[in-house]
Amino acid sequence: MVSQRIAEILRNGQPDESVTIKGWVRTKRELKEFAFMEVNDGSFMANLQVILNPDLPDYEDILQQLNTGASVEVTGTLVPSPGKGQRIELKASAVRVYGGADPQTYPLQKKRHSFEFLRTIGHLRSRTNTLGAVFRVRNACASAIHQFFQEQGFLWIHSPIITANDCEGAGELFTVTNLDLKDPPKTDTQEVDYSQDFFGRPAYLTVSGQLQAEVMAMAFRDVYTFGPTFRAENSNTSRHLAEFWMVEPEMAFCDLVGDMDLAEAFLKYLFKSVLASCPEDMEFFNKRIDNSVLATADNIINNQFERITYTDAIALLEKADRKFEYPVSWGLDLQSEHERYLAEELFKKPVIVTDYPVEIKAFYMRLSDDEKTVRAMDVLAPKIGEIIGGSQREERLEVLEQRIVSQGIPPEDLWWYLDLRRYGTVPHAGFGLGFERLVQFMTGMANIRDVIPFPRTPLSAEF
Ligand code: ATP
Ligand code: MN
Repeated sequence: MVSQRIAEILRNGQPDESVTIKGWVRTKRELKEFAFMEVNDGSFMANLQVILNPDLPDYEDILQQLNTGASVEVTGTLVPSPGKGQRIELKASAVRVYGGADPQTYPLQKKRHSFEFLRTIGHLRSRTNTLGAVFRVRNACASAIHQFFQEQGFLWIHSPIITANDCEGAGELFTVTNLDLKDPPKTDTQEVDYSQDFFGRPAYLTVSGQLQAEVMAMAFRDVYTFGPTFRAENSNTSRHLAEFWMVEPEMAFCDLVGDMDLAEAFLKYLFKSVLASCPEDMEFFNKRIDNSVLATADNIINNQFERITYTDAIALLEKADRKFEYPVSWGLDLQSEHERYLAEELFKKPVIVTDYPVEIKAFYMRLSDDEKTVRAMDVLAPKIGEIIGGSQREERLEVLEQRIVSQGIPPEDLWWYLDLRRYGTVPHAGFGLGFERLVQFMTGMANIRDVIPFPRTPLSAEF
């Protein structure tokens, strides 16, 4: 039987329409004359209220099975709702229970649960209001990301998940192997002999698709990746996952200013788009999770981001009328507290910091004429800190070779990357956006574990 989504009914349903819905019971209330239940199918924040009259076939028996969590199909007629809070409700003419849910054991009884508790029931938590809203916003945002790039003619490329590059220097790598860990083959010097491993060399889960995106940008001009990346960083923070999704645009014939312009236009587009497609969910976050969510969105959409150099940022931090835990001085990397001070307290909007010291940035970032800084940029967001990291890439062969050598990387490992500078090199730039950080930023969710359906963090890979 054709059934309708509850979102569609709550938005557009009219009195006297016959409909069939399918979903899960959130609550049931039995009165003397009749009963109510609220059903949710994940399509909308609000539930559809269903009226159950005693003239329903098997009324008593069915009523008994309609516990919180049970799965149902309801057919009936829409009627205007006399109650507060909803425009329309469904008068049932037939109810089918697919599967019951024992009220003694079903963990999601109607009350507020902590996010910590919900993480222990990762297989059920998506049936709650908050996680429901998070994953609808996550979906809308993912869709808007593709829309943004596709509208501008960017090619979506699929960078590999398994890679043999260990030189990116972005945190710790997970090794991919099918050697027998109990008895791995050894070399003469008693090290693990990876030449006998699956790929004939050490292999890892990717920490970034950038190098491959650069390859593709040298054929298609503008490309982007959007896929999972992995970092074995043993840091239990509210902003780090071991498996997270990254968006990485890469543009040929583009410099750092073009890169910043794209990053700013991108974030504005995504906020606008999600506000338009998930207004109820965004209202919910503003009311129940963080009352600055809508103001933040408005701020992003309507204000130009601040753009300052790292050198100026250090000067501002040195002048700050407060004490930081980590030291501030030219040459040291910005810590999260510094990033948040700049975005949250000082400018009260996103700040793009550019031109970082060469020593603290990756080898592929373009060296400036001062030879002290590279054309890097980080977009810092209030509450989150770094949300985007990007740069103009070093397109000059000799300079790139020197940088690679000075970072202790054997240049022959990157022969193909260097070839891009040998054959048809162009100025190019790109950035990486942590998708979960963005969803956190949009929704005000405090912990990154609650914006991905199945978080992977140290000591935790359940579900
Ligand atoms: P951080 O200093 O916050 O650890 P990073 O410098 O390691 O970030 P990049 O290597 O520039 O980050 O990665 C690009 C983007 O990916 C970051 O701007 C951030 O949004 C996101 N990101 C990085 N590490 C993680 C992680 N462990 N979990 C979730 N997102 C991450
Ligand atoms: Mn990191």
